[in-house]
Amino acid sequence: MNHFQYKGTELFAENVAVKDIVAKVGSPVYIYSHATLERHFKAFDNAFNGVAHTICYSVKANSTQSVLKTFINLGGGVDIVSGGELYRALKAGVDPHKVVYSGVGKKNDEIEYALNTGILMFNVESEQELTRISEIASRMGKKAGIAIRVNPDVDPGTHPYITTGLKNAKFGITIDRAMEEYKRAATLPGIEVIGIDMHIGSQLTKVTPFVDSIEKLKIMIGKLKDLGINLQYFDCGGGLGIQYNEEEPPLPADYGKEIVAATKDLGMHLVFEPGRNIVGNAGILTATTLFTKERDDKNFIMIDAGMNDLARPALYGSFHGVQPVVKDQDGMIVADIVGPICESGDFLVKDREVPMFKQGDLMAFMSAGAYGFAMSSSYNSRPRVAEVMVKGEKFEVIREREKVEDLVRGETVASFL
Ligand SMILES: *Cc1c(COP(=O)(O)O)cnc(C)c1O
Repeated sequence: MNHFQYKGTELFAENVAVKDIVAKVGSPVYIYSHATLERHFKAFDNAFNGVAHTICYSVKANSTQSVLKTFINLGGGVDIVSGGELYRALKAGVDPHKVVYSGVGKKNDEIEYALNTGILMFNVESEQELTRISEIASRMGKKAGIAIRVNPDVDPGTHPYITTGLKNAKFGITIDRAMEEYKRAATLPGIEVIGIDMHIGSQLTKVTPFVDSIEKLKIMIGKLKDLGINLQYFDCGGGLGIQYNEEEPPLPADYGKEIVAATKDLGMHLVFEPGRNIVGNAGILTATTLFTKERDDKNFIMIDAGMNDLARPALYGSFHGVQPVVKDQDGMIVADIVGPICESGDFLVKDREVPMFKQGDLMAFMSAGAYGFAMSSSYNSRPRVAEVMVKGEKFEVIREREKVEDLVRGETVASFL
């Protein structure tokens, strides 16, 4: 359920006609519904009612400050994967004690920044990272709270590029090494062992892989307890999928029920890192038809948005529903909807029956709130598009459209030229 619905023939974002937003802000534009963001955060949060837990929204899915602030206002923390994301989240007002820091390649200055900030914990992804964090924390006279990201070797049954919990993935410390690393961590001067972490993949449509992974980690938690290492935080990661097309992912409430059942005897504080599940269906990308052309039996619809604005179809062959902003097309047509980028991978829709869009028609790519703007780039020297948030009858630009001048900021022509 989201707040992008038709009233008559016109697509609305909450109580604002999408075409009115485009008229004011221009095209293409990302539009987010505040009510949908809130609704999805609360649905996830409520799934763990009665259990000590923190929702650490995964910033990388959509890092725009107004989105972060929406969740922070609801008591959310964040999961970050870089110093830049920490900076954004702090600017948006996050409580540092609700920040967890994941990622396989943390740099020294990022580790220092996080230690100075006083984040809750680092999710450690390698043996060397553990040593490094201890060294830096000791030098700073601090102790770093850590969890080890354990790679449980469980197949989440999703796209290979977003599968992270199989043994050959670059993520985490394998389950057979993790025990030794916990023992070593307990002896390191700059480390305070406080948790255990997993994140097995993205866009999961079943709960079973989560539960299987939890069961594997539980065995470890028990063994650690016997050694006198008592963990307080169980970070279950993110990864719960959404409906883009025909998938039927579990509802957060059903996911919650099974996770709570699997973890309740531990009495640990649960941490979750949802990204896509709470922002995915809260955003759309709106674009304008520039031209159409027919070639043999192939039809193309050229629009003003491309793979630099929404990379998922080019990157993973992902599906985004496409809907007219005003329904006045004369029927349907099988076509590719393509962008202006000089790459054949630059399509948003491939060989699909879509409304017969004509020059000037606006269309909305649905479910674009996660890994949409956040993955966008200025490839082909195309300024990144504007972002708008809608709340009821109101809407505001929350990120200005980039200007061509922004594209050359920081660039200099070498003095020897
Ligand atoms: C990407 C990521 C997430 C969020 O994944 P979603 O599928 O968007 O929920 C959570 N934790 C970590 C460590 C990640 O890298």
